[in-house]
Amino acid sequence: MASTSASFTPAKTAKKRAPTQADRFKRLGLMSDDDFIVHLPLRYEDETQVNTISQARPGEFIQIEGEIVQQEQSARPRRQLHATIADETGQLRLRWLHFYPNQQKQVEVGKRVRVRGEVRGGFHGLELIHPKVTQADAALADALTPVYPTTDGLRQSAIRSAIHQAIERADLRDTLPPEIVQRLELHPFAESIRLLHSPPSQTSYQTLIEREHPAWVRIKFDELLAQQLSLAAARAARLAQQAYPLANSDGSVRQGLQSSLRFELTGAQQRVIAEIAHDLRRAFPMHRLLQGDVGSGKTVVAAFAAAQAIDSGLQVAMMAPTELLAEQHYQKMTAWFEPLGVRVGWLSGSKTAKQRLPVLTGLKEGTLPLLVGTQALIQDSVEFKHLGLIILDEQHRFGVGQRLSLSRKGEAASPVGLMVPHQLNMSATPIPRTLAMSFLADLDVSVIDELPEGRTPVITKLVADGRRDEIIAHIYAQVNQGQQVYWVCPLVEESETLQLQTAVDTQLYLNDHLPGITVGLLHGKLSAAEKASVMEAFRQGTISVLVATTVIEVGVDVPNATLMVIEHAERFGLAQLHQLRGRVGRGADQAVCVLLYQGPLSAIARERLRAMYETTDGFEISRRDLGLRGPGEFLGLRQSGQELLRFADIETDEALVEQARNCAMLLREQYPEHAIAHVRRWLKGREDFLRT
Ligand code: ADP
Ligand code: MG
Repeated sequence: MASTSASFTPAKTAKKRAPTQADRFKRLGLMSDDDFIVHLPLRYEDETQVNTISQARPGEFIQIEGEIVQQEQSARPRRQLHATIADETGQLRLRWLHFYPNQQKQVEVGKRVRVRGEVRGGFHGLELIHPKVTQADAALADALTPVYPTTDGLRQSAIRSAIHQAIERADLRDTLPPEIVQRLELHPFAESIRLLHSPPSQTSYQTLIEREHPAWVRIKFDELLAQQLSLAAARAARLAQQAYPLANSDGSVRQGLQSSLRFELTGAQQRVIAEIAHDLRRAFPMHRLLQGDVGSGKTVVAAFAAAQAIDSGLQVAMMAPTELLAEQHYQKMTAWFEPLGVRVGWLSGSKTAKQRLPVLTGLKEGTLPLLVGTQALIQDSVEFKHLGLIILDEQHRFGVGQRLSLSRKGEAASPVGLMVPHQLNMSATPIPRTLAMSFLADLDVSVIDELPEGRTPVITKLVADGRRDEIIAHIYAQVNQGQQVYWVCPLVEESETLQLQTAVDTQLYLNDHLPGITVGLLHGKLSAAEKASVMEAFRQGTISVLVATTVIEVGVDVPNATLMVIEHAERFGLAQLHQLRGRVGRGADQAVCVLLYQGPLSAIARERLRAMYETTDGFEISRRDLGLRGPGEFLGLRQSGQELLRFADIETDEALVEQARNCAMLLREQYPEHAIAHVRRWLKGREDFLRT
C-alpha cells in the first residue's frame, strides 16, 4: 500500500474506552433537556407511607417498620441471609440471596428498621427478597418515587437527578394557546411534566400506571398532535407541488379497456375508479392508497388509472415487489392494452442488458407508454420521457427510499416548474382506521369493500398434521373433478436450503401418493423463466397440484384453483396466511383452505389460527394482526429503528387521535407559531420520518 507521508493519517485507535455517563444517556436517546423532560417513569414506588405487615399482599410493594426478631445464615442451597421483622400486626421474612457484611449488620436482632420491597409468596409464606433497608423513623417521601427505563450501568438515582436538573433548566412553557388548553380541558404542560416525574403521595397510582391521569393524557395528546402537525405539513407540501393533470379521463384507450372487459365492474370498483380519475385530473400529485382485500380486483382499477394517463399522453410505471407478481401484472396489462395498440414494456432483474435496450430506448423516446416490472424500474439506466403516473402494488413491501427513487424519475423541469408524477399505491393489507389516521394521513384512501359477484367465501379447516391421509384423499377427489390445488410448504426461517429441501420432498411425496396426477414445483431458487413456465403450466391446467414455497404469497391468480393446503400453518404470520388463502376462492366454485398444524401451539399461534378459522374478512384479520404485532411491525417500520409513538397507544387512544387531528388543523390555520413550537419540542428533526 502506498501512503505518502503527506496524506498519511494515523489509524484511529481501536481501543475501546469505557462508556461515559453521557454515552449511557445517549443510548436511551437522552441528549437535550427536552429529551430528559419527556423520559417518563415506567412505574413508581411508594415511599410516602409506612404500611403494616398485615397489609402485605403478594406482588405489591410495601414499606414497613419494625424490629428484627431473628437472623440466620443458611449454607444450602447457597449462602443466604434470612431475617424476620415484626410489627404490632405480625411478622415477615426478609431474604438476601447474597449479601455483604454491612447488610448483615443492618438487620441485627433487636434493631428497629424500615424496609421496603416487593412481597413474594415463597415456600415459607410471604417474604421480601433483597429489601431496601433504611433507618426507622426517618422522614417519609412526600412524592411517589419514579422508576425510569434505564440501560446497563445507569442507576435510577443518576437518571432522577439528571431529569430533575433538566426540569429546572428547560423551557416548560405551554406550546398550546391558553384558549385551546381550556377548551379541550387539557392539563397544562409544565404541571403535567412535574406531576409525572414526582407525583404527590395522594395521586391515584392506578391512573398513573394505566396512563389515564390527566397529566398522562396531556402528554399523549401532545405527542399525537406533533405527529398530526407533521403529517399535515407533509400534505401541504404535496399540495404545493405540481403534476401534469391527466385531463383525458374518457379517451380511446380507456373506452377500449372498458368495452373489452369480460366482467362487470363491481360498484366498489366503479367508485374507486372515479375517485382516482378525479384526483388524476388535478394539477398537484395524487397520493392515493387503494385498499382492497385479496381478490377484490385492484389490478383492473390500476389499469383504468393507467389508461387515463396514456390517453393524456403520459407514461405509466407499474412496480411490484416480486418477479412473479410483476410478471402476472405484465401478462394482464398486455392482454388488456396490446389489442388497443398500446405497447407494454417489461423490466426485471433477470433481463440482460441487450434485452433491456429496446425497452429503455422506448421509455426515453416516449414510444413505450406503459412499463411493468420489479425494483429494476428504479435503476439509473431507466429514463422516461414523460412519466405521469406511478403504480405500486403491495406498496408496504417497498421501502420509502425505493418509492421516492421511482417518483424522482418522473420529476421533470417544465416551463411552470418541477413536475411530480401522480402515485397510486395498492395494498391488500387493510390498515385499520386509527392506524391510517395516525401514520398515513398524507395518503388519501380508496377502499374496495366488495368482492366480485359469485364468489363464495373460502371455507377454512384446521387439521392436525397426523391426518394427512384424509387430505390426500380430498386432493384426489378435487383433481378428478377438474379442479386444481396449491400445497404451500412450511417456512423454515433458519435456512433457505432446508426450505427448498422440504418443497422437493413434498413434491416427491405427493407424486407417490397421487398416481396419475401431475405435481409441479415452484420455489424461489428457480430462474424467472422457469418460474414463469411452471406458472403457465398451472394456469393452463397441465399441472394439477402445485407445490410451492411462499413465493406464491402475493398476487398469484389462477381462478380454477379451489383447494389450498398450508403445511405447518402455525409458523406463518396472520397477514401471510390471509394472503395465501386469498389465492383460492377466485372463481365461482366453493374453495377450501386447509391449515395443517403441528402442536403444541404457542398462545400466539393459536390466536392466529383461530382468527383464520373465524373470519375471512381482511379488515377483521388486520385488526387482530395489529393487536398481535403492534403498529411498528405491522406497518413494516420496525427496521427503521424509530419508535412510532412512545406514549400514546393508537388502539386505546383512538379518541385522542381524532382530537389531535382537529387541533392540528386549527393550529395550522390560526396559531401557526404555536404549531411550529410544538413540532420543534416533540419531533426535533424526526419530521421526515413521518412523511412516508
Ligand atoms: P387483487 O385485488 O387481489 O389484486 P385481482 O386484481 O388479481 O385481485 O383480481 C382477482 C381476480 O378477479 C382476477 O382474476 C380478476 O380478473 C377478477 N376480477 C376483477 N374484477 C372482477 C369483477 N368485477 N368481476 C369478476 N371478476 C373480477
Ligand atoms: Mg393484486
